[in-house]
Amino acid sequence: MNKKKNIRVLLLDDDKFMLEFVSHLLRELGVSEVFVAEDGKAGLFVLSTQIEAVDLLICDIEMPGMDGIEFLRHIADQKYSGKIVLFSGVDADLLKAIERLAIVRGLNVIGTLMKPVTIGALAAILEKLNLPAYKATGFSRIRQVFDVDDIKHALCADQFTVFFQPKISASSRRVTSVECLARWHHSRYGYISPDNFISIIEQNDLINDFTRNILKKSVRQLDLWLQQGLDLKISVNVSMENLDRFNLPEIYQEAVQNSNVPIERVILEITEGKLGKDFAQSLDILTRIRLKGFGLSIDDFGTGYASMETLKYMPFTELKIDRIFAHNATQDPATRVILESCIKLGKAFGLNVVVEGIETEEDCELVAELGCDEIQGYFIAQPMGGDEFTQWLRNYEINR
Ligand code: C2E
Ligand code: MG
Ligand code: MG
Repeated sequence: MNKKKNIRVLLLDDDKFMLEFVSHLLRELGVSEVFVAEDGKAGLFVLSTQIEAVDLLICDIEMPGMDGIEFLRHIADQKYSGKIVLFSGVDADLLKAIERLAIVRGLNVIGTLMKPVTIGALAAILEKLNLPAYKATGFSRIRQVFDVDDIKHALCADQFTVFFQPKISASSRRVTSVECLARWHHSRYGYISPDNFISIIEQNDLINDFTRNILKKSVRQLDLWLQQGLDLKISVNVSMENLDRFNLPEIYQEAVQNSNVPIERVILEITEGKLGKDFAQSLDILTRIRLKGFGLSIDDFGTGYASMETLKYMPFTELKIDRIFAHNATQDPATRVILESCIKLGKAFGLNVVVEGIETEEDCELVAELGCDEIQGYFIAQPMGGDEFTQWLRNYEINR
């Protein structure tokens, strides 16, 4: 049997027999450490006592005391970053709704498990864990609470760097561009993900310097790639908090003009959820950014509030459909309907439609079939450093 060494699983269920039975199956499958808890509160306690991360949570929904939904809310607040499987005897539609809720809260739900549990279903879940790839990125799993002084120090010490994740053309499968994703290269914790620092940066009026820094570094990398003959574009994330000054288009233009990169090769991604704070000001700034020649993308489309209004007024060139509508779309008819409608909507507005968060070949084929233009997700590649990307692209082109 395939040994699942070093996998740490926490199992939550109010039924003692179920805890014993599933623990036994997990051990049969080679899982080294199984922790159990009889309700949400006990589960939170177990998590709080762990020094090493728990890789997988298998969580029952119906539990007396703190139920599964409340438990998920708490661990989302605590930024739990491991994988989650929802486990229940509730009907499949309700389980799907709970899965979506967890994904909306930023949790990494990799599937659902219906009772009664079989060893085959558990084995399939363990296969999905894909832990070696996760660990291979050297990505820190430590959820550390940082404060603004840590961040200011990191900015001064130039510890923020950029990882790149490819986007491919849905029709030719050629790599067309990369999304530039910020990473904090921490001397102690390795590469730290943006969830741990972007909001602190935004709340402390540091986001403008930060975005300019990431944009400059990304442009510098693209400049090198263009010199090497690679035909690529870059996408850089911009916060709504950035849109607080009317000279923003000039600031970004200057960051690009100090290089040989044509401005048309730079796309700025804005998360649509927060558009509308000061609608006229946002519209003014975004329109002038377009006028300068930048591409403009609505990020995480479908999870915000002003989708239709945004599409009607804002001069976007691209629509990026959130991963929650791509995840499992082949299996879940409701997700598929939303995905299909978003793609049609984007195409009807003449936008370049990207689907992000594609993790499986089936989802990749489905979104291509539904007519999206570009695809991004772990199925193609995880975000990686610049040199690693150059190497990855060489191999990808050989094998394509
Ligand atoms: P985003 O712009 O929507 O970026 C996509 C996120 O999804 C990235 O997370 C990426 O690693 C992750 N991802 C890509 N493919 C898959 C997949 O197949 N499955 C799953 N589960 N996830 C996938 P990351 O790098 O942790 O970034 C999170 C968010 O942080 C970004 O979401 C973006 O909103 C923000 N962010 C990142 N860099 C910057 C930055 O330089 N400035 C600002 N303002 N925000 C940034
Ligand atoms: Mg983005
Ligand atoms: Mg996104």
